[in-house]
Amino acid sequence: MRNYSKQREEIIGDLIALSSEYPTAEEIYLSVKKRDSSISKTTVYRNITMLLEEDVIMRIPNVNGADRYTLVTEDNRNFMICSSCGKVVEFNHDFNIKGLKKTLNQKYKFELLSKSISVLGLCDECSKENGGK
Ligand SMILES: [Zn+2]
Repeated sequence: MRNYSKQREEIIGDLIALSSEYPTAEEIYLSVKKRDSSISKTTVYRNITMLLEEDVIMRIPNVNGADRYTLVTEDNRNFMICSSCGKVVEFNHDFNIKGLKKTLNQKYKFELLSKSISVLGLCDECSKENGGK
């Protein structure tokens, strides 16, 4: 198991290095492979799954591209995802997650697990390309 945890640490390291890019699993794999050419894609993907389960990293869902990953932090993190080009931008807004959690729980008997809110839209560039305002 020692080997596995070392691999996970390396993946975390690469995630931190790539954090401003919100890397996809494929990008994380390519980055890890640069240092350890013997590592398989399956191993990297399995470790990413483990890190997700351990709540070390989180998934940023993407509609028309691959999901992206970033580290879990203390703060709530919100992401704008461009539905056209797949660009991810982090933004600050107090969504009152506690209040939302309470509402969903009381009204819908739904337990909120998300610690972040991701919204879909069009980025400035794509908006211009689409002839938007
Ligand atoms: Zn875009």
